[in-house]
Amino acid sequence: IFLFGSLSAALIALQWSGPTFSEESLKGMRVLVTGASTGIGEQVAYHYALMGAQIVITARREHVLKEVVKKCLDLGAQKALYIAADMAEISDAARVVEFAEKQLNGLDYLVLNHIGPSPYGMWDGDVDHVQWLMQVNFHSYVKMAVKALPALEKTNGSIIVVSSLLGKMCLPFALPYTATKFALNGFFGSLQHELAMKHSNVTVTICTLGLIDTESAMEKIKGYIDIPAYPAHEAAYQIIKAGALRQSEAFYPWYTYYSTFIRDWFPYYRDQVIRNSYNYQL
Ligand code: NDP
Repeated sequence: IFLFGSLSAALIALQWSGPTFSEESLKGMRVLVTGASTGIGEQVAYHYALMGAQIVITARREHVLKEVVKKCLDLGAQKALYIAADMAEISDAARVVEFAEKQLNGLDYLVLNHIGPSPYGMWDGDVDHVQWLMQVNFHSYVKMAVKALPALEKTNGSIIVVSSLLGKMCLPFALPYTATKFALNGFFGSLQHELAMKHSNVTVTICTLGLIDTESAMEKIKGYIDIPAYPAHEAAYQIIKAGALRQSEAFYPWYTYYSTFIRDWFPYYRDQVIRNSYNYQL
């Protein structure tokens, strides 16, 4: 307990002594946000808009993107454009980055946030779905990052990866999704090292989120687990803030940090707690 308390205090003190976030610093910044038609991505777009950024948003549904763009302009975005794309299509990742760089005349932030729909429940053995989801949730992130890196190098830019507690811990009922999030954490965590070792101008921020109250997430977990969901607009703000401060990691809400921290301390009890937290009838 003493060790845990001291470490927590040291970490909080470190955070306090770090740079402070200024919304003003994002004015005019050129930002590409994926998965921005709904949920957390939509909220990320609105926050950037309020801060006066120049935004390109993407997702599949054009009619929804149009509405989000309209709202971004109303909120104060210097520029707001959309491009409809399906990240299951191999060529769409690069096409979207090219569009954003051309329309914004460069890029400061690449916010990788989209996820493809995936069933929640005991895994049904559908290997094709795992492969498809890997393309949408992982391979397209890698493609977009590699395509954007040269432009980000020129602007001291940042890549923000929206990940999950399920990229750090194994839980039941979301196997394909969990696999894609672990892949993201592995790839972008390793990329952080290589960029730092090459003295690159680009930073990567990996965001670990817990349950957030988006429509899709609430619909999925209904009946399986009863835990508090935290607001999407606050999650979005924390994501933007962590990216602007060039943090390597961000955790929201608070329990995601502690769950990750103590994950391997008592594996037997951890697994019992996890398995007993879900409702499931054979
Ligand atoms: P949503 O399901 O609300 O939004 C997903 C977004 O991705 C939508 O804009 C959707 O738009 C887009 N999308 C879906 N399929 C594709 C595709 N094939 N190609 C391009 N875009 C696509 O998700 P959340 O807001 O809940 O989650 C956002 C991020 O936060 C994700 O990375 C998720 O893993 C992470 N997260 C969320 C948690 C939560 O509890 N909500 C918890 C932990 C992490 P369209 O349908 O128009 O394509």
